[in-house]
Amino acid sequence: MADILVYSDLLTNAKELAYAGKGFAAALGMGISAAALGPNADADAAELGAYGADRVFVGKDPALEGLQTDVVAEALAQIAKEAGAEYVIIGSTRRGKELAGRLAQKLGAAAVTDAGSVVVEGSDLVASHFSYGGATVAKEKVNTPIKVFAVMPKTFEVGDVVAGAGTVVTPSLSLTPSAVKLVETKPKEGAAVNLDAADRLVCIGRGLAKKEDLPMVESLCAALGAEMGCTKSLCDWEWLSENRLVGLSGTKAKPTLYLSCGISGQVQHTVGIGTSKIIVAINKDDKAPIFAFADYGLVGDIYAVVPALTEALKKK
Ligand SMILES: Cc1cc2nc3c(=O)[nH]c(=O)nc-3n(C[C@H](O)[C@H](O)[C@H](O)COP(=O)(O)OP(=O)(O)OC[C@H]3O[C@@H](n4cnc5c(N)ncnc54)[C@H](O)[C@@H]3O)c2cc1C
Repeated sequence: MADILVYSDLLTNAKELAYAGKGFAAALGMGISAAALGPNADADAAELGAYGADRVFVGKDPALEGLQTDVVAEALAQIAKEAGAEYVIIGSTRRGKELAGRLAQKLGAAAVTDAGSVVVEGSDLVASHFSYGGATVAKEKVNTPIKVFAVMPKTFEVGDVVAGAGTVVTPSLSLTPSAVKLVETKPKEGAAVNLDAADRLVCIGRGLAKKEDLPMVESLCAALGAEMGCTKSLCDWEWLSENRLVGLSGTKAKPTLYLSCGISGQVQHTVGIGTSKIIVAINKDDKAPIFAFADYGLVGDIYAVVPALTEALKKK
């Protein structure tokens, strides 16, 4: 029986893939396997089994230390062959984007990266991803015998999990240490930001006239208990760090509340906020495209609205 193999370097993402993969496998009459690699592989394997993987291939070869992408690609290629995988679905994480191409090359496969949806159509899996800078959605199926899909984190919802262990398989891996020598790791400069996990997100755009005005937005975030994100220019100008970027080139956020301040609503930004539960926009231009996305729109100058909103929230 052909198989679907899933893998991500982020466990939360790997669980999403295992859960969704089980549904795909059932629809296509395939098996579902997961790969757990590196020093935490044993603990990860138990979780992946609970989330749907029938078999979990556990790789703890010393060459996997640090999960360098060249070694992971080789390990996954060997596991895919041992599992009889027809589909390899990996997370389109920062490392996953690089992994997809390397893995596809080793498997003689074609790859679709940055997929924002995967569905079963007939006897195929079909993936969609943004193309032309986010202006269009391309829908693609792959015709090579083995197919590699890299899927954006949070693409799949995880439902009820039935605790049960997948069968642990120890693959016969033959790996050589990475050609990349890890010299040093250090935390990113600036405060740690996790926009993925933010329940409330305030995003600031080019409506902000100067960097010195950022505290106005930070006060709103503090009053609202929100994380701060931004559009691309603010990162390009180095007003805010790259890990605050929301959109095509940054985080796809999924907060309960998203509030935009001085953001026009170009597609490259809105692809990152489309799954927010409630979208609120403040913009002085009543024709700004962001209002088409918003559940609530406020036409006004952020320099008047944001401080007033902050004060009102503080009084609550
Ligand atoms: C390949 C590619 C990838 C990209 N990836 C991303 C991405 O991941 N994320 C991203 O955000 N962008 C991305 N971009 C850039 C994107 O195309 C837009 O340029 C960007 O999102 C626009 O940012 P903005 O809304 O802040 O600025 P603008 O489009 O300039 O809009 C500013 C808005 O602020 C309003 N405004 C001005 N002053 C005030 C005020 N005082 N009060 C209230 N409103 C005010 C204006 O009316 C206007 O609507 C990408 C572009 C490309 C080509």
